Order: sequence, then structure tokens, then C-alpha cells
Amino acid sequence: MKINILSPDVYNKIAAGEVVDRPYSVVKELVENAIDAGATEICVEIEGGGKRLIRVTDNGGGIGKDDLVRAYSPHATSKLSCAEDLFGVSTLGFRGEALASISAVSRMNIVSKPADEEAHSLSCEGGTVGKVSPAAGGKGTEVTVRDLFYNTPARLKFLKSDGQEESDVTNMMARFILSRPEISFTYLAGGKKKYHSYGDGLSAALASVYGAEILSELYEINADKHGVRLRGFIGNQNFSKPNRSYQSLFVNGRYVINQTVSAAISNAYASYLMKRQYPFYVLFLDLPPEIVDVNVHPNKADVRFADNQIVYGSVYSVVSAVLDGNSRALEYLAELPPRASAPKAEEVKPSREMTLAEAKKELQFEIPLTAGKTGGYARSETPPILEVHAPAPAPAADAFEENRRMLLDREKKKQQRVDPATLAFKGELFRTYLIYECGDDAYIVDQHAAHERLIYDKLRAKIQARTVVAQPMLAPYILRLNAQEFSFLEKNAAYLAEIGFEIEEFGGNSFKISAVPGDLIGIDLESFFAEVLSSMESLRAIKLADLIKDRLASAACKAAVKGGEKLTDSEAKALLERMEGDMGLKCPHGRPVAVHLKKSEVEKLFKRIV
Ligand code: ADP
Ligand code: MG
Repeated sequence: MKINILSPDVYNKIAAGEVVDRPYSVVKELVENAIDAGATEICVEIEGGGKRLIRVTDNGGGIGKDDLVRAYSPHATSKLSCAEDLFGVSTLGFRGEALASISAVSRMNIVSKPADEEAHSLSCEGGTVGKVSPAAGGKGTEVTVRDLFYNTPARLKFLKSDGQEESDVTNMMARFILSRPEISFTYLAGGKKKYHSYGDGLSAALASVYGAEILSELYEINADKHGVRLRGFIGNQNFSKPNRSYQSLFVNGRYVINQTVSAAISNAYASYLMKRQYPFYVLFLDLPPEIVDVNVHPNKADVRFADNQIVYGSVYSVVSAVLDGNSRALEYLAELPPRASAPKAEEVKPSREMTLAEAKKELQFEIPLTAGKTGGYARSETPPILEVHAPAPAPAADAFEENRRMLLDREKKKQQRVDPATLAFKGELFRTYLIYECGDDAYIVDQHAAHERLIYDKLRAKIQARTVVAQPMLAPYILRLNAQEFSFLEKNAAYLAEIGFEIEEFGGNSFKISAVPGDLIGIDLESFFAEVLSSMESLRAIKLADLIKDRLASAACKAAVKGGEKLTDSEAKALLERMEGDMGLKCPHGRPVAVHLKKSEVEKLFKRIV
């Protein structure tokens, strides 16, 4: 027997199969390279399910002229230089195999331009590298892969239909968009725009994958439990999907499929969903790297935990608390008061043009808009290596506009903030509305609504921080109930105690209430409990946070200054400061606290201008 040394050509073709076996794995490698290169905008385009064409364009750091050749050679990586580096890898790729492997089995071209160099291009066909030549192109890198597996017919035969391959790429793009909400992705398949995300955060990313309407069906979670950080979105109790394809889990930023986590979530939803209904979730689990083993197989979406029980327990308790509306729910819900999360005006990105032509120009490449076959969205029966979830319904072109409009509206609402110091108090109208002026802008503030909102925020914050002080009452209040009401309150007594009620059983289906939350002193207990009990039947179906919000709102309402009470100038000033100049505030019932009036609008009234 003779031992042969494989020629690099043969070796690379074999190696290629390890790294890439399907169009989606090529896309995955190329997009990961773009992410590693620090790109903030990535465009992915495929034709013929990726068999005919895959093109990934990014605005990242680029590859210098002298490094272009090296990028194609096996084990060439800029991400590791010595073995020690292996222990601190933070990039997605580091083996230096992807480009070498892909270029061995396709016709590949790279055009790249680092910020301070000219653009250059280099092609490679079936592993044969061409010559570096000057090219045109903006900062970043464009990698084009044509005719994948053209020289390995056995592999080519193995591929699924164009439609199926495309749908697997589409799934993966959805996951990239969700897992990297800070990056703007554009994804086109068969000349059609399938996804466009803005890089504006997770809720915007969700909107671009599933449509903005979905946000109103979801709870946003942000919880710390047993050292596990859990954040993301889960569907409400009435929101289900017919299959598991709407479930995405990212552990330490990496997309995974994990039995422990999916079982915990399924069990939390067990009492809400019927057979063959599946919860929606996009969840990020962050835990200490030492208790996660992601290297089960570099290409597999698998993960192992050192302690499954801890992971199960924390996921289950967080999700079920939110769904069941138990006393911990408020702590786990991410819904921050809008004032705390409002970005400064200059942080809000200008809207981006969305047309295909613009996207094309922006990314400086040409999209061949050949009317290629765009295979359907058949679901994958046996998912490939990565268990992909079925394609999200790709929003129609108009849906991008619609999403953008909804998201911009949300942003705008967050922006209506002024510096209280710049506002001069000008007086009041009808003993209810306060007038403030700043340059050419005037604001009319409903003092009653403003007070309501402030009291409400304060109460809510206290409850969240568990710093409510119970205020003993002079005479205890006896609450007489029927058996059903009694057992309902009995179950929720711990929660009431937590928010500052001192409540104990008093025999014969009654409770003795001897202290109330400090801020609610003087509250009409009879009507308060009547309200709480009126939602008894529906409590499991509605969010506890909503219920409490409601109760807080009515409490705030009662305690607020009634319209008609006159404020002094300094009180009026102080009110604005306590509002932190947020003119976008709403009272707890949803009415606006402030109305903006422009000088030009007043001038129009007087026909000074038209
Ligand atoms: P790895 O990602 O494991 O380093 P690859 O074969 O995927 O190996 O890429 C080889 C090298 O080419 C990378 O280390 C990087 O220096 C360079 N490179 C590849 N794609 C890009 C890109 N989009 N932008 C900048 N550099 C890139
Ligand atoms: Mg790579």
C-alpha cells in the first residue's frame, strides 16, 4: 500500500464538506465573517436557493490588498495568532477554513476595501486563485459565491430543491436578525426583498421578522434568576402557534435548540395552550460560560448545561410567574416606565429609505433582478444540521413600510422631552390647565392628569422596589366575603402583603385589614376590594401587572389634585420638574398629560400666517 499525500485541491474539496454542505451553511459562514468584521449593515442576496448565487455585502473593516490572497488559504485567520488566543475567542469564526473551503467548491469573488485603502478584488474558481486587481466599491467587503458545488457533482445532487434551500436560508436570516438586533440586515431571495431590519433593537428586529403587530401579543421579559439572565419576548396566554417554528432560543448570544429550556417553557404554558398549540418565544439566556458547553459540535445548534435543574427552574419560574400573574411577575417584566427608557433625541436614528433602488445604492452593489424562480415556502421535514424553524411569513413589501411607520411612531412618542429649566410658567386656564412657554413652543399641561401620572409612577416604582411602607389604620377594616371570594383573596394575600397591606383571616370568610400601603392611606377600601374582586374570574387570563396598574391608576386618580385647585407659581414649576419635562406622558388612563402648541399654530388662528 502506498500512502498518498492529497493534493491541496483534493484536500480542500474534502474539507469543504466539513464546513459547508448546503447553501445556508455558506451564508452562515459569510454573515458570521461580516459580523466579525464589525459590520453594522449586512446585505444577503441569494438566487436559485443559493445554488446559483450567494452574495454577502457588509460595511465592516474590510480586507487589505495584501491580505486578499491569504484570506483564501486554509487556516488563514486574522482572529487567532497563537494557541493561547484560543481561550479568549470572542469572534464567531476562528478556524480560518470557511473561505478556503467555499472557494474550493464554487466560483468565488471578493471585493474589499478597508477604510484607508483602495478597493481590490480577487477571484477564485474551484480552488484556483486568480490575480488581485483594483476594483470599485465602498468600505467593507462583498463576497460573491456562484455555482456552489459545480465541481463536486455528488454534493450538488445532495442538495434539496431551490425552494427548500431558500427557505432554510430564510430561517437562518430570521435568526441572525433576532440575535443581532443592533445590526441592520437586508435579505433578498430571488430578487425579492424578504427581510429588512434597522439595527434598532430587539423589538424592531421582531417587527421586521414577524410584523410589528406581533409586539402587542408579547410580554417583554428581563429577569435574573439563580444566576441566569433571561430576556426577550414570550407570547401572551392567548397567543399560540400551530408548530414550534416560532421559538428561538439564544444561549450566550448563540442560536441553540435545547430540550431543557423548551420543556420548561412548554410546561409553563401547559394550562393555557391546548394540544398542538405551541408558544411563541424569542429568548436570550445569558449564563456564566463555565456552566455552558457549546462545543458539542461546532456546527450543531446544541448546547449542554452543567446543571440542567437550575436552568429548568429559572426558565420555568420566570415564564410561569409572568403567565400566571403571580407576585413575582412585576419583577420579571421588562416594561420599564417610558420615562426611564426614553432615548435622547439625537440618539434616534434618522429614518432610512427602504426602496430596493436605495438599498442597492447604499450597499453599492448590483442586484441582478432576474425573475428567477422563487421556490415556495415548503416547510423542512427533516431540518438540516441546524434545526431551523419554519420560515416566518415574509412580510410583503408594504409591510416594511407599515412596520417602519409603527416603529417611528413609537420612537416619536419617546422623544417629546423638554428641559424643564427652559420653560417659563405663564399662568393657568380654567383652574385646570397650566401654560408653559419656551421659544416658539407652548405646552398646556393638565394638572390633574400630571399628578395622577406622577403618583402612579411613584407607587409603581415603590412596588417594584418593594419599599412600600404599610400604614396602620386607626380602626381595622373587616372585609366580609363569600367562599369563592375568600379563597381568591386567600391565594393572593401574600401579594397584597408584599405591596403593603396587612391582611389576616378573621373567621367566617372574612379578612381583617389593619394596614394599607402608605400612599393609599385614605383610600376607600370597600371600592378598592370590590374592584380587585370584580376581576377575580378573569385574573388568570389577564396580566397581573395590568391589574395592578389599573388599581394603581384608580388610587392615583383619587389622590391626585382635582382639576380646579389652584397651584402657586412655584408649585407649577415643581410639577414640571417632577415630570422631568416629558411632554409625551400619558395619565394612567391613557389621556395625554400635555398638549403642544406651536406659535405658528396660534398665528394661523389669527390669520397672521396661512
Ligand atoms: P475565520 O473566520 O475562521 O477567520 P474565514 O475563512 O471565514 O476564517 O476567513 C478568513 C479571514 O478572512 C478572516 O480571518 C478575516 O481576516 C478575513 N475575512 C473574511 N471575511 C471577511 C469580511 N467580510 N470582512 C473582513 N475580513 C474578512
Ligand atoms: Mg469565518
